[in-house]
Amino acid sequence: SVYLDWAATAIPYKEAIEEQTRVCSDFFGNPSSLHEPGRAARRLLDSCRSDIASMLSVRPEQLVFCSGATEANNIALLSVLTRRKRGHVIVSAIEHSSGYEPALLLSSMGYDVDFIRPDASGIISPVDIANRVREDTVLVSVMLVNNETGAIQPVREIVQAVRTVQRRNIHVHCDVVQASGKIAFNLTELGVDSASISAHKFGGVRGAGIMFAARQWDVLIRGGGQEQAMRPGTENVAAVAAMRRALEISEKEREKNSEHAIRLKKELIDGISNIKGAEFLPVEVTKKEKQYIPHILSVSFPPVPGEVLQRVLSDAGFYVSTGSACSSRARRNSRVMDAMGISDRISFSAIRISTGYLTTEADITEFLRFIKREIPLLMKIAR
Ligand code: PLP
Repeated sequence: SVYLDWAATAIPYKEAIEEQTRVCSDFFGNPSSLHEPGRAARRLLDSCRSDIASMLSVRPEQLVFCSGATEANNIALLSVLTRRKRGHVIVSAIEHSSGYEPALLLSSMGYDVDFIRPDASGIISPVDIANRVREDTVLVSVMLVNNETGAIQPVREIVQAVRTVQRRNIHVHCDVVQASGKIAFNLTELGVDSASISAHKFGGVRGAGIMFAARQWDVLIRGGGQEQAMRPGTENVAAVAAMRRALEISEKEREKNSEHAIRLKKELIDGISNIKGAEFLPVEVTKKEKQYIPHILSVSFPPVPGEVLQRVLSDAGFYVSTGSACSSRARRNSRVMDAMGISDRISFSAIRISTGYLTTEADITEFLRFIKREIPLLMKIAR
């Protein structure tokens, strides 16, 4: 079989799985306990924190370990509730649902929320964001890499534009999930107040993530005060240790993997371009390669429904996703594609192909051979 759904979850590095297993049995103590097993777990957690901080070029106390990016996005966005009862919020219309739904919740609780649409290439304009900033703006949130298009957002320019208009009070959050382990970026240089990272997207195991917090602030959850009281709850030491291992490997191999992903994407684009009626989402992805990460490619073969194609591919052992995998059970056309102005007809047929460190050129050749043969037939049936 050929796994082409790495943006939904990456196949964990075997070293990460081994580390998780080792730590589960050898460091079983609760890191808050004062006896030796507890202290051993605490030391391990601390060493993970300082190693990960140095890989991310941030300070150890700026890392809040949590269960994943959904939790990190929720903590970051919903903590405005502890600061002000009302206010203005700016969120991009292309956020993952874990960043979009909290914004909807804020809206239903009385905040004035502006959702900013991207241009047709899937990119949010810093000028559009800056133009919306008001005296009472409390929060701005824009992701670094979109999970459906792979479009890299100009987050640094957005932060600069926001701070130029209004220095005080604005918390800028960034979901860097689809960038981590794939492209080089520096959280301090981006200038954001918070960011979310998820271990299972770069070869760690599920159940660990990071909320980067440039400084400490008050959050909504209450408990035993762990993680500087920003994410109370017993830490998942084993998954954090596995995340450290995965981050080490993915950072070490990042450039090599990225060049490999570029080659695979070229092959995909060349092959798919030969299929009559195929549409790339966005079309610019074929030309402006630097604006998109090479690991993600969305494409549509109207009028074949994306869900049908995904099933046909799955039956043949090729695993891709329709729209955004995490919400694809919802059976709606993609909100991201909608925001980009892509027609329902094209968005309805979208599939997302995403590659990773284990994807081979032979996988892509096999996949292309299959779709070149099947798509014309499926198009005929769907018409
Ligand atoms: N943000 C983005 C951009 C994602 O792609 C995902 C996963 O699909 C998430 C957040 C959610 O991450 P997690 O699975 O760690 O909750």
